[in-house]
Amino acid sequence: MSFLSLEHVSKQYKTGEVVTDALRDVSFEIDEGEFVVIVGPSGAGKTTVLNLLGGMESVTGGVIAVAGRRVSDLSKKELTAYRRHDIGFVFQFYNLIQNLTALENVELASQISRAPLDAGKTLEEVGLGERKNNFPAQLSGGEQQRVAIARALCKNPRLLLCDEPTGALDYATGKDVLRLLHETCRDKGMTVIVITHNQAITPMADKVIHIKNGRQERVLKNIAPQSVE
Ligand code: ADP
Ligand code: ADP
Repeated sequence: MSFLSLEHVSKQYKTGEVVTDALRDVSFEIDEGEFVVIVGPSGAGKTTVLNLLGGMESVTGGVIAVAGRRVSDLSKKELTAYRRHDIGFVFQFYNLIQNLTALENVELASQISRAPLDAGKTLEEVGLGERKNNFPAQLSGGEQQRVAIARALCKNPRLLLCDEPTGALDYATGKDVLRLLHETCRDKGMTVIVITHNQAITPMADKVIHIKNGRQERVLKNIAPQSVE
């Protein structure tokens, strides 16, 4: 059985009289430790996929399973524990707490975790050991995103969900962030799913999922990964 699967998943949003089909009949599988990229135009439903996987939204139809559990069957309490312990999130705009240092931001996340990794060591792993006492405003965009990645990683999650982590960064900085995520996936055996428009990612990916208009267009498996320069 695969680590993660979507089976005929649909998602509708109702806003007053307006119904939006954000996803229609989406199915795919991901194995443990895979580095997966979701691509597609704006409004295609990419964020919706991550929100469903992270338990922030519930499906309208179909089944999502992660690590042998149906996410839609989890109780409210189980869902909170799932989000807290099993899932790491990385966002476009870092969402760091401005009056806490890099280290304090990471420590805060590790405090709510069941089996946290060492915050200082995790910051070193993302290349920010020297800057651990800096506040977010004293760090570049790329550095702030590394802090946000360390914050997600120190929870030691099974699944890392990254929603446009390169969206606020220039191409080269974004590429470095993607490389870091790729190394993390490989070194820790962690399953990582990334939404990005940064073209540098495609050669790194084990799987590329194309979503368009709420429908999954195709899943490409990288047969011969190229080395990334
Ligand atoms: P993407 O991440 O590919 O840009 P989204 O998953 O954010 O796409 O959105 C897919 C569709 O669902 C869009 O038409 C969007 O407007 C709609 N949508 C997303 N979230 C909501 C929401 N909370 N309420 C209503 N409509 C939403
Ligand atoms: P990156 O390519 O990682 O985003 P930059 O080239 O933007 O890095 O920044 C280089 C250095 O300048 C970094 O070490 C960073 O700490 C510092 N720096 C960048 N932006 C700011 C800022 N707004 N405030 C303080 N320091 C900054």
